[in-house]
Amino acid sequence: MAIDFSFPEDVKLVISKVRDYCDQVVRPAEKAIEESGDDRKTLVEQVIQMRKAAQEWGLWLPHMPEEYGGMGLGHVAMAAVAAEAAKTRFGPFALNAQAPDEGNMHTLLHWATDAQKEQYLKPLCSGRARSCFAMTEPEVAGSDPTLIQTRAVKDGDHWVINGHKWFISGARGAQFAILIARTEDDPEKPQAANSAFLVDIPSDGWEVVRDVHTMSGSHNHCEIRITDLRVHESKMLGERGQGHLLGQARLGPARLAHCMRWIGQAEVALEMMIKRSLSRFAHGSYLAEKQGIQWMIADSTMELYQGKLMILHAAYKIDNGLDFKSEVSMAKHFVAQSLNRIIDRAIQVHGALGYSQDTPLAQMALHARWARFADGADEVHQWRIAQRAIEAYSKTGSVGTAAGDLPL
Ligand SMILES: Cc1cc2nc3c(=O)[nH]c(=O)nc-3n(C[C@H](O)[C@H](O)[C@H](O)COP(=O)(O)OP(=O)(O)OC[C@H]3O[C@@H](n4cnc5c(N)ncnc54)[C@H](O)[C@@H]3O)c2cc1C
Repeated sequence: MAIDFSFPEDVKLVISKVRDYCDQVVRPAEKAIEESGDDRKTLVEQVIQMRKAAQEWGLWLPHMPEEYGGMGLGHVAMAAVAAEAAKTRFGPFALNAQAPDEGNMHTLLHWATDAQKEQYLKPLCSGRARSCFAMTEPEVAGSDPTLIQTRAVKDGDHWVINGHKWFISGARGAQFAILIARTEDDPEKPQAANSAFLVDIPSDGWEVVRDVHTMSGSHNHCEIRITDLRVHESKMLGERGQGHLLGQARLGPARLAHCMRWIGQAEVALEMMIKRSLSRFAHGSYLAEKQGIQWMIADSTMELYQGKLMILHAAYKIDNGLDFKSEVSMAKHFVAQSLNRIIDRAIQVHGALGYSQDTPLAQMALHARWARFADGADEVHQWRIAQRAIEAYSKTGSVGTAAGDLPL
């Protein structure tokens, strides 16, 4: 039997190293940042120190090949590392495996020319640069990239770009953007209308209008106005009309990377739920002894288990060059929903304390909400999952290939 759910020794070693690194380096640094009231100087000092330590511990850039200074982990091993690191606030950033840079690194690795890799990928890998990915626009539904209105028009050996983007994570402080714009008037397929460009920041015509204030505060998700921005043709990433393809290729592993971090958060919430229920006493027993609370713990535990299996299976498919679209879609949908449910249950078990800012749960709940529509809304994933199931049944008389293509 080829099914083996254990990790090889070298991966186990990496996971326990990440756990120790988070305990000994990240959590103390986070405490210092928290005690300073998120003071900017303390934050910068602590981030530099965490990142230096990640390099010393041999944990820098876990998802990238060794030739770029990374650890060369596959997606399965990365799932375990990201879930562990994401139990802390700064873990993924400390390892240089944070969104959107992580997804952009994968994109550049697969699509960039050698010159583009030299100029954009290497500084990202070394931690000297940060980046952003600019696709969504306020005027049209982000769920349907064929509607993108930002327009690039050829002018000699340059492209001139005009448009409007928002929710561009990490735009402030980024050294470059991967920008998606419409280049084709009459594409063969509607999906082949857009192309991707590498835009240096700052550039004339690239203006950060504001940091969009979200329900969990301002977190560098920016509105960008693009006016007569000139980009040399050598800065196109991939070919003309490949913007959608590139976005999809990027979003597969990037969506899964989100799931890996969300699993870490869900596990933290479940453990907090159990800890609280073991110490809170009401109506003659501890909350942990009450069936109503046990149901919440049981449901959350089962969801965590399901989420982990889905992530590992999708990661396995990516690592083995198999079609992973359905599995990533199902994992993204399930883990995003489950994360929100588990955090909500943890808040419920904490009562008023859960609603306060005295535990991280309130912030976790606010952050978790975006998971259900960013990088593909719940309903869009459901639509695709259903389409594949209907197609599989219509062609083969079975939904097997659409339901994970498992040997059951
Ligand atoms: C915190 C955060 C960070 C983000 N970072 C980035 C970034 O770095 N770069 C970037 O380009 N974008 C980013 N986004 C934008 C994100 O990718 C979009 O929010 C997402 O693609 C959805 O687009 P939209 O918001 O325009 O929603 P819409 O497309 O308008 O969809 C709204 C709702 O309509 C429903 N819906 C849509 N299509 C269907 C359908 N076919 N069937 C049924 N229901 C449907 C869903 O319920 C959906 O939630 C970010 C968003 C957030 C919140």
